Amino acid sequence: MFKDKPCLSLKVLGTRGSMAVTRRDQQIFGGNTSCYMVRAGDETVFLDAGSGILNAPVDFPRPPHILISHLHLDHVLGLGMYPRLATKGKETLIHVPAGPGEDPARLLGGVYSPPYWPVPLSAYGGTVHIRPLKFPLTIGDLLIEGVPGSHPGGNFIIKLSSRGRSIVYASDYEYEEHSFHRLTKMADGAGLVLLDGQYTAEELEQRRGFGHSSPELGLKLMEQCKIGRLWLVHHDPQRTDGQLLAREEEYSRKNVHFAREGEEILL
Ligand SMILES: [Zn+2]
Ligand SMILES: [Zn+2]
Repeated sequence: MFKDKPCLSLKVLGTRGSMAVTRRDQQIFGGNTSCYMVRAGDETVFLDAGSGILNAPVDFPRPPHILISHLHLDHVLGLGMYPRLATKGKETLIHVPAGPGEDPARLLGGVYSPPYWPVPLSAYGGTVHIRPLKFPLTIGDLLIEGVPGSHPGGNFIIKLSSRGRSIVYASDYEYEEHSFHRLTKMADGAGLVLLDGQYTAEELEQRRGFGHSSPELGLKLMEQCKIGRLWLVHHDPQRTDGQLLAREEEYSRKNVHFAREGEEILL
């Protein structure tokens, strides 16, 4: 019965930013790039499809929906090797951000076609539907809303709500006044906010315009709205476990958590 299942859960399948890494001193937080699995009842929604999607199961009660916040490589590079897409009889829906008149399958095909990839996703054995990402979107009991964030080439801040509980996903986000106003509006009252925390404050100074943030933005966000939990995501590929643990300790009194690959939260 649906009522016996948790309202909303999120599992971190990959939270490394920009590039997958495999070093031994990066295993606590994990090396796979952005992918988060949200479940509400029988429905499953993936937020992005970086290499972390290879950690996902293949079978679900209902066809899963994969939402791509933006098309940077670290957010789509897992699709090509996710076994479900190649499994006959399995249906998967991929929602791709596309501007007016743009074909979402063609946009994704920019990566998944020769000479960059041997075969297009549409030629895989499973049934893959590629559609434009549009908000609001309703999937079963889940209401999914999105607003433009602030990132080179554009991206979306995505909010998933079910039965009064909500998760906000704001990866690949750099502070900018207008979009920050949109972010605070989305985040206010959310049980969980995933926020880009890729850089240190010093790195951010040197990388303005690269499209990412530092943990200080999380503190600013928590000052301006009420959030259940703040998880920082999209860890820099050079960051070691030791550095991330030290940073987490530094912010522990502020209740800021650095997301780890494999962890799960029930809301
Ligand atoms: Zn990214
Ligand atoms: Zn990006």
